[in-house]
Amino acid sequence: MKPLSSVLSKILILYFIYTIPVKNEVVSKIRQALSGAREVSILTHTNPDGDAIGSALALYHFLRAKGINAHVLLPSMYPDFLAWMPEVANSVIFEDDEELCGRYLSESDMVFCVDFNSPDRLDGMEKMLELSKATTVLIDHHVDRGHFCDLAYKSIHVSSTAELIYRFIEELGEQAQVDATMATCLYVGIMTDTGSFSYACNSSDTFRVVSALMALGVDAEHIHRMVYDTYSEERLRLLGFCLSDKLMVMPEFGTAYIALSQKELERFHYKNGDTEGVVNYTLGIKGIVFGALITERKDRIKISLRSKGNFDVNRIAVEHFNGGGHKNASGGDLYCSFDEAVKLFRSIIPMYGVELKKAKE
Ligand code: 5GP
Ligand code: MN
Repeated sequence: MKPLSSVLSKILILYFIYTIPVKNEVVSKIRQALSGAREVSILTHTNPDGDAIGSALALYHFLRAKGINAHVLLPSMYPDFLAWMPEVANSVIFEDDEELCGRYLSESDMVFCVDFNSPDRLDGMEKMLELSKATTVLIDHHVDRGHFCDLAYKSIHVSSTAELIYRFIEELGEQAQVDATMATCLYVGIMTDTGSFSYACNSSDTFRVVSALMALGVDAEHIHRMVYDTYSEERLRLLGFCLSDKLMVMPEFGTAYIALSQKELERFHYKNGDTEGVVNYTLGIKGIVFGALITERKDRIKISLRSKGNFDVNRIAVEHFNGGGHKNASGGDLYCSFDEAVKLFRSIIPMYGVELKKAKE
């Protein structure tokens, strides 16, 4: 009988033989498309977070440095805590200027879709994208939701889209072109998508990329302060209100959630991004493996889900909330009343009772 190590090494060799050429083929097709591109649009998901903005801006600076006329097009406004990021103010916000977005998209030879993998996350912009004749390229790290772009550079085994962008540039053989500005943008993406290196980063690859970014002049301490220590007073008070008055704990199911109505959000003069990170606090309780934040928005109910360990919230987001994401961090939307949404959320918990109990162990 062959020793296990030799069988394993054969499997590994076969894995590399079959996966690397596939990836290289994608990269060489993207390289080819880029070589003829003059105008490029970079799109992210609605309510863009640090990874979406960091990835889009890094790509924007990378393409501009190549002489390509790149534009970042956002379905909705970026949060205040990212307003300092290099040239984020040059982004076109679809909500504010549909015409300019449409013009840039129609003039583009290529469109990059970063940090999302389903057109429904474009919140209205998807109709414009459908009309585009450009080559579309996906760069993303979410659980697959079906074919969407002409070319896809993706993996669910990376911390963030920002990490993937760096690896993509490496595979293009152009890492020498990454400068301190691009590195800063990528660092923001990795830092925010890993909760400051506390989840989705159990990989030496992530830290290898971070180390390369640091060597390019990233000021990690400054970035941390700019992203996490620049709350408005109201945002911090909203967090306090969530934790003291709104946190609901269902210990028998290892579940905790916070539900915020539009009226409650208005009381704290809610702005885009003000509830970012609130859901993570639910997992701070010992024995809690599943956490949620339910917020009533103008036109929908937004659901954010988080979990510890093996409890898969992507499945819950797909099955119940028209959404998706990752195993431990997902989200979705409901189109019903706020009370109905909370009721629905509570009603699905017992269905996962066995899995939740297992995850608690
Ligand atoms: P968050 O809870 O921070 O808004 O999102 C957590 C994760 O779930 C992110 O990776 C995000 O991309 C994904 N996500 C959030 N909302 C949605 C949604 O409405 N649809 C899908 N497919 N994914 C979402
Ligand atoms: Mn991301």
